[in-house]
Amino acid sequence: MILVFIGPHGSGKGTIAQLFSRKGWVSFSMGQALREHVQRMGKYSQEVDRFLRAGKLVRNKVAYAVLHEHLSSLKKKNIIFDGFPRNVKQFRGARSILRLLKRDIDAFIFIDVPDSEVIARLKERKQCPRCQRIYGKNVSPRKKGFCNADGEKLVLRTDDNPAVIRDRFRVFYEETFPVMDEASKYYPVFRVNGVGSPTVVFKRVSRVVSLLN
Ligand SMILES: [Zn+2]
Repeated sequence: MILVFIGPHGSGKGTIAQLFSRKGWVSFSMGQALREHVQRMGKYSQEVDRFLRAGKLVRNKVAYAVLHEHLSSLKKKNIIFDGFPRNVKQFRGARSILRLLKRDIDAFIFIDVPDSEVIARLKERKQCPRCQRIYGKNVSPRKKGFCNADGEKLVLRTDDNPAVIRDRFRVFYEETFPVMDEASKYYPVFRVNGVGSPTVVFKRVSRVVSLLN
């Protein structure tokens, strides 16, 4: 089975995907696949490494090659696409690659969290500058404002500042949201209420997945 989790940055979809991975699912994120490609010194590793370091998007051709390679290595495993595809073009690309691999998406799951809640969550999110651990609503430091592991003073993540958050919302609504319209022509699209603890949201998503079997 292949599921696509869609939701804005801060919706918690990555955390829910992690909870599914404890049940044997494989969580796929394009960023992770690209980083593994570099580590394995794959065909495009030099180019990918350069683009990742510059924080830029790799060419579509390269992204699809890495996607194909990564998905074929997963064989018939159950996969969750976490934050991919990000736009309609990537959705079409992913579909043609899955067709080559004789696999297909089973459903889209939209983890719906109001913008105000996402902003509140991101404001609470702090990071340790030394060991990079992330603290938030669900993982709190034992001593407020300091890292559990090394006692370093926690800071706001640089990519969680208001201007960056606003820009990510804009990209999400302009580019990612339309993927669901396009996807609904081919696949069931479910909306799950993403407000609540990860365990509660995980249960809601699991209920939807159990309907698919
Ligand atoms: Zn630390």
